[in-house]
Amino acid sequence: MYLHGTSRINEQGHLEIGGVDTTELAAKFGTPLYVFDEQLMRETMRAYKSALEATGLRHEVAYASKAFCTLAMCRIVAEEGLALDVVSGGELHTALKANFPPERIHFHGNNKTPDEIEQALNAGIGAFVVDNFHELELLGALAAEKGVVADILLRLSPGVEVHTHEYISTGQIDSKFGFDLQNGSAQRAIQESLKTKGVRLIGLHSHIGSQIFETEGFKHAVEIVGDLYAKAIHEWGASDLSVLNVGGGFGIRYTEEDAPLLAHQYIEAIGTAVKSTFDRLGLPYPEIVIEPGRSIVGNAGTTLYTIGSIKDIPGVRKYVSVNGGMSDNPRPALYQAVYEAMLANRAREEETEVVSIAGKACESGDMLIWDVKLPSVKAGDVLAVSCTGAYNYSMASNYNRIARPAVVFVQNGQADVVVKRESFDDVVSLDVVPARLLDGVLSQS
Ligand SMILES: *Cc1c(COP(=O)(O)O)cnc(C)c1O
Repeated sequence: MYLHGTSRINEQGHLEIGGVDTTELAAKFGTPLYVFDEQLMRETMRAYKSALEATGLRHEVAYASKAFCTLAMCRIVAEEGLALDVVSGGELHTALKANFPPERIHFHGNNKTPDEIEQALNAGIGAFVVDNFHELELLGALAAEKGVVADILLRLSPGVEVHTHEYISTGQIDSKFGFDLQNGSAQRAIQESLKTKGVRLIGLHSHIGSQIFETEGFKHAVEIVGDLYAKAIHEWGASDLSVLNVGGGFGIRYTEEDAPLLAHQYIEAIGTAVKSTFDRLGLPYPEIVIEPGRSIVGNAGTTLYTIGSIKDIPGVRKYVSVNGGMSDNPRPALYQAVYEAMLANRAREEETEVVSIAGKACESGDMLIWDVKLPSVKAGDVLAVSCTGAYNYSMASNYNRIARPAVVFVQNGQADVVVKRESFDDVVSLDVVPARLLDGVLSQS
């Protein structure tokens, strides 16, 4: 397993993260446990900021909170001076509860409800990224009713195809997201928004996909969206236009097959594309916004599990089951995502067997890793799966009524719980038994 950030093997031969022995974390907080390397998250945020600084362009980094959104995470993002993307009332509520500055919040999503729009208008968020005509009309009406003007960006679908998994690719024409350029709806949306009371068009947005390993797609999107930006100013009088948001999707290394670029390489390419495009168009440079999610938290997260049953089918496969699975990490089942792992308690031992890691949910598809090389495993070993920081906790479920794990942040030898482990009572806490059924229960007991 590749060791990211502050991860290392300590003198006891244990995996250590943030100066804390992970076997001690497992003993103290139980497993499954999500462990986040706080220093690595902060360093990555700073790397994006300084790379943008170096382009000389006005800029903002917005952390796409859907990758991992908790109160403590919002605090770190606020402390580091980043902006925050939310895509639902729940994420917005989390940010506001964490005292995240509302003017640095951007609201995304392809079906914001009237209630969510109200909530965001009441909070005074920085900008809405409007996805479709229904939303434009709804937002305009609700803002006008309140006597406010909401700053908006339009989410465009620029028709750029990137090489990534179908379900996480979003910039192509056949996508549920955004206004299409090819069929003219993006052009119409710009004109429409300039006529809509209650909104002010300040920028154009595109997000071409996720887990992207090259810069071509971003360059292509900047050129396409830049052309429309110029047209909006020159032909349609979009005088408040000043922001070009190029989205997120910067890739990370999950396994040795993945070869992402460094933060500054993506940003330099984007900066160069913006400058050459806007020079060509004869326009002042816009403010650049990027929206990394996965690349800020992905490598910083490690999940610790305890190994339980082992089923050896000689000559076929050895299934090693852990006390978690698709309920804490649905990505292998959802996207065929691939992860690396190691034994946290025997990190220096020779890897002598190839096994497959099974989750405990009642689904044959609940497999966390096919074919991983480990030392000879036994029940009670602590398995560490790396790069689980993004889209794991945020996608976790209570399938099989499995309680969701705790989350700890580690740094400088200190571990802080940032999400408590769910109890079984938490799992049933929203259940309601109507009186007529309760009678039945009481009479039986
Ligand atoms: C999901 C999303 C992101 C973040 O994508 P990552 O791959 O996690 O970096 C950024 N912008 C938008 C609009 C998104 O939907």
